[in-house]
Amino acid sequence: MRFALINNEPIEAAPGLQGNCRGCGRLVIAKCGTVRVHHWAHQTIRMCDSWWEPETEWHRSWKNNFSREWQEVFMPDVQSGEKHIADVRTEHGLVLEFQHSHIKPEERTAREKFYRNMVWVVDGTRLKRDYTRFLKGKKDFRATSKPGIFMADFPDECFPKAWLNSSVPVIFDFKGAGIEGEPEDPGDPLYCLFPYEGLFDAYIAEIPKNAFINTVQNGEWGIRVQSFMNEVNEKRKHQERLRQNPNNGISYRKFIFPRIYIRRRRF
Ligand SMILES: [Zn+2]
Repeated sequence: MRFALINNEPIEAAPGLQGNCRGCGRLVIAKCGTVRVHHWAHQTIRMCDSWWEPETEWHRSWKNNFSREWQEVFMPDVQSGEKHIADVRTEHGLVLEFQHSHIKPEERTAREKFYRNMVWVVDGTRLKRDYTRFLKGKKDFRATSKPGIFMADFPDECFPKAWLNSSVPVIFDFKGAGIEGEPEDPGDPLYCLFPYEGLFDAYIAEIPKNAFINTVQNGEWGIRVQSFMNEVNEKRKHQERLRQNPNNGISYRKFIFPRIYIRRRRF
């Protein structure tokens, strides 16, 4: 954790300090070594939030884009009796979770159900081939009538498998953790994969990092995503009606040709 309470004030870890966890109230000790970022650790238990993962500079630099009051917000989980720490929770109720390491699908789903109004920000460079695979897959993106919005037939050829079935938007940050020879710039694009189901094409937005941060800060992010998803869902309902009634003269190759056939045809 970045903050603990000392005299009821949230304070960052510094050598020699002791404080109390903002979630469970237990004693926490400042850990200020050279390997991991300075943090607070519980003295007697591992961590009171079972979803918590050790933080990196990447987590901290993302958190720094938002006010301190929005960082590390404890939220009670009535089912487990635990409290979970949202990395960032805005005053508009949007939760941002920054995910650097691998996450099990069950835990990803559990967090999405718990936070509901959330967006994942994922370190897109966790595995060495993640970025090159993305660059290769990106060549097949199809432009839409909306600037910065693309469609992809095969998002699985582009993004890590663990994030394909997410029920909330997933933002991939390919530059934030640093790619050799490519320094980060605030205008660097992030790529947002919107929720989709197997049969349908996936929608992807290319968003400059600073634009994403601004729309989260001013509350527009949630409104824009909701209206975009409403539009997409209407289109999908229409496609589904066409699929169920194929004799109306309009053909959709993706529904008519089995997926495997289209894949083979491409090579
Ligand atoms: Zn605690």
